[in-house]
Amino acid sequence: MTGVLAIAIDAPLRRLFDYRAPPHVDPASLLPGMRLWVPFGRRRVVGVLVEHRSRSELPDAKLKAALGLIDDEPVFDQRLLELLKWSAEYYRHPPGEVIAAALPAPLRSGAAMLETSERWTLSAAARTGHTSDLPARANRLREMADYLRSRDSADAAELGVLSQRWRDHLRELEKRGWVTRLQVTETPPSRADVSTAAGPEPTPAQHSAIAAIEAAHGSFAPFLLHGVTGSGKTEVYLRAIEAVVARGEQALVLVPEIALTPQLVARFAARFDAPLAVLHSSLTDQERLRAWRAARVGTAPVVIGTRSAIFAPLARPGLIVVDEEHDPSYKQQEGFRYSARDLALVRAQRLSIPVVLGSATPSLESLERVRAGKATLLDLPTRTGGASQPTLHLIDLRRHAETQGIATPTVLAVKRHLDAGGQVLMYLNRRGYAPSLFCPSCGWVAPCPRCDARLTVHQREQRLHCHHCGTEQRVPEICPSCGEAVKPVGQGTERIEETLARLFPGVPLARIDRDAVRRKGALEEALDRVTRGEVRLLVGTQMLTKGHHFPDVSLVVVLNADQGLFGTDFRASERLAQTIVQVAGRAGRAERPGEVLVQTEYPEHPLLAQLVTGGYDAFASAALEERKQALWPPFARIAVLRAEAARREAPIAFLDRARGLAESLAANGVEVLGPAAAPMERRAGHYRAQLLLHAPSHTPLQRLFARWLPAVEELPEARRVRWSLDVDPLELF
Ligand code: ADP
Ligand code: ZN
Ligand code: ZN
Repeated sequence: MTGVLAIAIDAPLRRLFDYRAPPHVDPASLLPGMRLWVPFGRRRVVGVLVEHRSRSELPDAKLKAALGLIDDEPVFDQRLLELLKWSAEYYRHPPGEVIAAALPAPLRSGAAMLETSERWTLSAAARTGHTSDLPARANRLREMADYLRSRDSADAAELGVLSQRWRDHLRELEKRGWVTRLQVTETPPSRADVSTAAGPEPTPAQHSAIAAIEAAHGSFAPFLLHGVTGSGKTEVYLRAIEAVVARGEQALVLVPEIALTPQLVARFAARFDAPLAVLHSSLTDQERLRAWRAARVGTAPVVIGTRSAIFAPLARPGLIVVDEEHDPSYKQQEGFRYSARDLALVRAQRLSIPVVLGSATPSLESLERVRAGKATLLDLPTRTGGASQPTLHLIDLRRHAETQGIATPTVLAVKRHLDAGGQVLMYLNRRGYAPSLFCPSCGWVAPCPRCDARLTVHQREQRLHCHHCGTEQRVPEICPSCGEAVKPVGQGTERIEETLARLFPGVPLARIDRDAVRRKGALEEALDRVTRGEVRLLVGTQMLTKGHHFPDVSLVVVLNADQGLFGTDFRASERLAQTIVQVAGRAGRAERPGEVLVQTEYPEHPLLAQLVTGGYDAFASAALEERKQALWPPFARIAVLRAEAARREAPIAFLDRARGLAESLAANGVEVLGPAAAPMERRAGHYRAQLLLHAPSHTPLQRLFARWLPAVEELPEARRVRWSLDVDPLELF
């Protein structure tokens, strides 16, 4: 038996499926990457040919034939298909789901890969006079037939000029056998003429970064572009991309979800006078497909997108850029748990092109890569335009009186900056009014019925929300346990907004968090009001920390640094340092010198002390040293097997068996730790636990997975839980 097609199907199974070629199709004519219709269970689904096999494990009688070919060329070129295969293998994820993640939705359901348009032509019969005559008074029909006789074919736009009722006439002509309808594949020019607008003259530091990237063209070279916010990193990307585009190649630019603002796209669009392909999660299916096609054909010189754009097809790849490479949004946290940042390195290596990871606060992984000589550091040590770095001060919350979480020295500083005409930005990573509702009489705290968590008070809408599962309730008027009055305890952004309005009456104030900018376009509007200076006081969450330009902000306040100091996760301190430095970077971008206040109850904490005295670099060296001692990534590789179920015992029972299997396989060099319940064990009604796998490098893990996962899948306990494997997890729970 020969000519077996191994086909990927969008299904949660870690394997390919064997089929025979469709009837009357020579299997040898089919190329990997082509889509086919295949029978799957009782359905007809889209599959992608991954490879040819000489034989199947299925008996001949059970081997079904594919139903038909969808495209006459592959949707992925060989190099992209290989990357997808590699990713499925590395992350141990079902290959069909990996391939589906790389396809725009219409292509997953069988839509045409290339753009087609309708054209009409005079039928062969009509051209040779073998049709019956048109009625004597059908002048319009005759006109249209004459028009078509004078050329090969015509499209809707041309025919619409002849008559408003052209569709009716065509239908009439078609019925009489005079006209044939054609579906024509558009072949857009594969290369657009790109003219480039002038940018500012690069500084010496920018110049050497640009030169280094340019010198590496045509070969794999990873760079870490490290520069504080406002040091001109984006300008370096733009220049490096100019050179790429001038050679007729394409650049792929990845940005964090929240940073893909119209302003950023506008900056790229202003530089390159050519259609950019923009890929992000709020596109319609058709918009996404159009951008995907422009990337694939090569008309778009720059493809810019969020996480999943790492799988965008590229006709002539020349450079990959990952902006804000430390950003956690590059790691997909559910389903196919890939890291777009890490895959950018893999893809660039396989394509032999340079890749630039940029950040003001590089991940410890990237810093270690530089230290080990596996990536080149490009440093932009100062801000452009002479703006100075903001100074950082700690405010000891234990020593000062406070008004709803705002210490007196902070209040005074805000007043001073407002009086001097500056803008003030306050950061708190907690939306809502207060993180809990408390009864002072009996100690009751409003719990989420479905999670081991408290409900957050949202005052304006008089509701309690669970930020973990979305549960909502009315705020009770009295304590349900003892009948006394209840009160909100602690601060969220909504309460800070209220307090600021009271402390600084008349000062224009805005809040930016997920609740305040829910409406589409609301975030852009609010940011514009800040940029125009209409807002003087700004309070917000994480949303404020990324990529925005606020030229007049002179004071930044981190209201509570302590949430990140004692996190259970080994990455908690890295996240905290990155957040503080990123939010601090919003201060003093233009002429005004910036000041940053960090409120804490632990001013003597070494992490904060390092940040204040030595900045992010000092923190990072110390944190890397700690990771080295404790053998955490990047000095080891980890993976977690997670499980959850409505019954509390099920996840631990499953993980215990999985652990036993791993031990029986005597996986050399892999340490299995746990199972352990999650710190917040119950979420959305499900109990959660995990097993941690720890190894000095990825190879022993990969070797274990190959033998272990098939056995784990077969465990009877596996049917009683929902489980997943996370390779290189960002968060431990
Ligand atoms: P980053 O991406 O590091 O935050 P940007 O590239 O956005 O920095 O630069 C910050 C600001 O400085 C922008 O307004 C940019 O136009 C400007 N800028 C960047 N490089 C230069 C330069 N060489 N000369 C003048 N202005 C520059
Ligand atoms: Zn009570
Ligand atoms: Zn909940």
